[in-house]
Order: sequence, then C-alpha cells, then structure tokens
Amino acid sequence: MSEVIIGIDLGTTQSAVAIVDSGFPILLADEQGRSLTPSAVWYGAEGEIEVGHEALRRSGVDRVITSVKSLIGRRADEADGALLADGRLATAAGPLFPEEVSAEILRKLKGIAEDRLETGVVKAVVTVPAYFHDGQRAATKRAGELAGLEVVRILSEPTAAALSYGLDRLGDSSRVAVFDLGGGTFDVSILEMREGVFEVSATSGDTRLGGDDFDEALARFAARKLGVELEAIDALEKVAWVTEGKRVKHVLSDEEDAVFRIPFTGEVPVFREDFLRLMEPFLNRMESCSRRAMLDAGVEASDLEAVVMVGGSSRIPAVKERVREVFEKEPDLSQHPDEAIARGAAIQAGILAGTVREVLLLDVTPLSLGIETMGGLMNVLITRNTTIPCKAGEMFTNAIDGQTSMKVRVLQGERELARDNWELGAFEVPFESDRRGQARVGVEFRIDADGILSVLARDVATGKDTVIEVGSAAVDVTEAKVEKMVSESVEFAFEDMSARVFEEARMKADELLPAVGVALEQAGALLDESEIKEIKEARDRVELAIKDREVAALKSAVEKLDEATESLAALLVQKATAALFSSPQD
Ligand code: ADP
Ligand code: MG
Repeated sequence: MSEVIIGIDLGTTQSAVAIVDSGFPILLADEQGRSLTPSAVWYGAEGEIEVGHEALRRSGVDRVITSVKSLIGRRADEADGALLADGRLATAAGPLFPEEVSAEILRKLKGIAEDRLETGVVKAVVTVPAYFHDGQRAATKRAGELAGLEVVRILSEPTAAALSYGLDRLGDSSRVAVFDLGGGTFDVSILEMREGVFEVSATSGDTRLGGDDFDEALARFAARKLGVELEAIDALEKVAWVTEGKRVKHVLSDEEDAVFRIPFTGEVPVFREDFLRLMEPFLNRMESCSRRAMLDAGVEASDLEAVVMVGGSSRIPAVKERVREVFEKEPDLSQHPDEAIARGAAIQAGILAGTVREVLLLDVTPLSLGIETMGGLMNVLITRNTTIPCKAGEMFTNAIDGQTSMKVRVLQGERELARDNWELGAFEVPFESDRRGQARVGVEFRIDADGILSVLARDVATGKDTVIEVGSAAVDVTEAKVEKMVSESVEFAFEDMSARVFEEARMKADELLPAVGVALEQAGALLDESEIKEIKEARDRVELAIKDREVAALKSAVEKLDEATESLAALLVQKATAALFSSPQD
C-alpha cells in the first residue's frame, strides 16, 4: 500500500478528516461515530486541553476558544482586539498564537485518523479559503507542523468542493459556481475546467457572514420578545441564548416553526417567516457577492454548468431559494454540505499519493498589477482575477530627451491614477541616453505557481536586464483590503476616468505645444492669416483648458490642435523638399 495522506477541512466552526478508500473519499469518525469535530479548544488552568465536542460542552460554564481560524496568520491590528499586541491570544494556559490553538484541532483530527486507520499518519492536505493570503497559509502550515503533521499541500476550499462533486469530470471549458456558507464565513467562487485543468476564475465573499450571525439574530429576536437586554447579561449566559438560537435555526431547516426556550426566562414561538425576515439582509449580502463573482469571472448565470452548495448553512431553505434565483438553476446539494470540503481534500491527497489521477489546481490574482507610466497613470499588466502562474509584458519609452534611466514602480490596485494604488516595489532601470520616445524598455511581470511576483525590465538597445523579486505581495492581500480597493474603484470610477482622460490629453498637449511653436516659426510665411489665427486659437484653447482643468474641453482642443499641426507638418515637408531642389545652386 502507498503511504497514507489524509485530507483535512480545518473549518471555522467545524473540522473533519477524510481519506480515499478503494477510490471513494470517506470521512473518518471518532469513537462515538461523529465525523464532524467542532473547531473548539478549551484550556484548563492546570494545563489540561480539550478539543471538539468535549471542549464545546464547557462553553456554558467556562471560556472556550472558537473560530480561531478567523485569527490565524493575522496581526493584532487586524483582529479587532481579539489578539494581544504580540499577535497572541490570551488563554488559561497563557498567551498562545492562533496557530498553536489550531494545532490542537489538527492533533485531534490526526488522532481520529490514526485510530480508524490503525497506523501512524504524518502527511496531510489541509484546505483554506481561496482568499487566504500567504501569511494565513503559512500559519496554517505551521499549525500542521506543531501537530506533528507534514502539510504536503494547502488546497483552496472551492477547489476541494469541486473535486468532491466530481466537477473535474465535466467537459472542457465548463464553468461552475461553488457557494460555501459555513458557520462564520461566506465564500463564492467561479471555477473553470480548461484542458483538464481546474481554474478559480473569480472569488468573492464575506469573512464575517455565516451561521453564527443567524444564531445571534435568532437570539436577539427572542430576547426582544421576552424583554431581555442581550448586551446586559454576562457572556456565559449569552452563550446559552446563542446556542438555543442555533438549535432553533436547525429545526427551522426541516420544520415550519420552532420554540425558542430559555429555562426560567420564557419561550418564544418562531416561524419560518420570522427567520426569513431576519435573514433578508444576510441573503442580500450573499446575493451581491455572488453577482460580483460572476461579474469578475465575466460569466452570466446561464453560462454556468452547475452551482454546488457546501457549508452547513447551505441547508437553510431560504439560502437555497436565493441561490436558485441568483444562479438561475437548481443548486446541487447532493454531497453532504459540511463534508464536501474534507472529501475534496482527501481526493487531492489521493492524487498526491498517486492513488487518484492528477488534476491541476490554480489560483488567481486578487487585484490588478501594473506600473506607473507618464502622467502618473496606472498601466495594468496583469488584470485582477488572472489565473496564476502567469506572465505579461509591455514596452515603455523615455519621457525626456537624454534621460538615462527610468523608475519602474510596481503597483497593485484597481484605480486609474498611480497614487491611488499600492506600491509593491520600485527600481531604477538604466538605459542608453536617447531622444524623448526613442529608448525602448520592455517590462515583464511573472507570477509563479507559488504566487511569487518577479519583475524584469530590459533595455532593448543593450539587452541588459534588471530583475527584482517582489515576493508574494501580489497574491498576499487580505480580503478586506481587496474589498475596499474594488469598491473604491467603483465609487470613484467617474472621477478616475476623467482624471485619466485629462492626463492623457495633457501629455499629448505637452508634445504638441512646443512643436506648434517651432512649426509656426518655420512655416508661418506659407500660411495665410486666417490659418495662423485658427492654429493660435486652438493653442490658446488647449492652454486655457489645462489651466482650468476642463477635461472635455481639453480633449477636443487637443484633437483640434493635432489636426491643425498635421497640415503644418505637411507644409514643412513641402518647404523642405522645395529647398532641397533649389539648394545645389547655393
Ligand atoms: P465552517 O466551514 O465555517 O466550519 P460548516 O460548513 O461546518 O462551517 O457549517 C457550520 C454551520 O452550519 C453552523 O453555523 C451550523 O449551525 C450550520 N448548520 C449545520 N446544519 C444546519 C442545518 N440543518 N440548518 C441550518 N444551519 C445548519
Ligand atoms: Mg467550511
């Protein structure tokens, strides 16, 4: 038998471990037959540690750490006060890094696998959300090491879901959507099969949207009905309310109504319609993320072959209903939604162990990449949501006569002006001095399979290369920052566009104005009064529009001036030719 590699879904609220057995991915259960392990860890003051169901049982009476996945690989300033200044988490066992807590969950899953398989297990494939940046992926890997596991592959969750649904067997260029609504997070991705290769075409979502929100909304609903101030009661008591909210939510997935009960406080009947009303704002957020993902992938609902739903919260009827509406087709929920990711991880593990045929898996760039060009504009070389690995290049030239080097600023973002994007790095490219517009510098961006961006600049005249490695920053961006950048690009789309049009027209004017002056001097005698007047007026209009920053006026004035100088240039050529034929006598 070949070596065992286990597949692990390290979830925000629940985790699971699976393997491929005789070609089938199966979940491995604990001694009590439970195949889902709550991602919960409890630390006792005496160094005791409990994980999963055992830990969760203490949540009504003691502090239990949950949702540590939302903290892994994050800095203290990104964690809303959940982490100490050094990035650690305060626990009864002292301050611990989030990956140390995650390691306990992985250790538990490793133990479950070893018990079931009756053999030692060392290697694992672990899944992470598609938007996890490098730091989060590295911390997840470290958690594995701390648990005594070698993480042979970090796999994107939507890809794992697609594998478990067997979407890799769909025809070439089929496109599918993966809708993942879990306990704490929501992710939606569009995948495409191309020449037997899986590609994530686009991914969107919300790191703060999931089943926990629905539990809390139900708890608030009941508290309001019972006249209880949820904020006023102590944290442990609130856990009881939220836990009851979760129970009611689960009942409502199968029944039309349920009763919310808090002992010694009261009961509240809850109907599906009540829940639907509470869900409405959440459903709207899911819808806009789904539409964004389709937009980014350049597909419409009718282009999609299938939409698969994963994550435990996909069982909520209202969610299924909304997905059906948005994607215009019956969603596929045939795989257990909270088991699909672990099964996919197991399939990937099988591929790596050589027991399942190979499928390649690729990621995408979260934001566009480019360089600053003349006029302070962003020149995009690799657009957002491009599948990696990838490369793209373009030629650039010098802006000034006699310039001997060019500064290449590597930018990331969706804005038209360079200054509104983020600088990932900058370097100076030397080239042979030449007249304005004569030097040729080729710039190429390359992102390898590990997401590392390197930028190469070549002086075409000498063939000399300058290369810098920008690192993983091109793909290493938090989802929140991506979200902010994209929404700003939409918000400022009009201003950005007119700023670009203005800059481009101004650069053209910079080129034309001196040429007009020279040409008028040389060819002035050949033009009649009215023609000269026309050119001078066009020139004045250009200068005025620049001074007043009038975008539309500048654009049309520059076009006018360009036309006028064209006839001037023709005249100059005529004059030069005439001079050439008359000169031998001189
Ligand atoms: P994660 O990937 O975030 O760990 P899961 O995919 O395991 O999460 O989903 C957990 C969430 O699914 C929890 O919020 C849980 O309440 C919810 N869930 C599970 N079963 C149901 C159900 N039948 N109806 C509604 N929600 C459910
Ligand atoms: Mg999940």
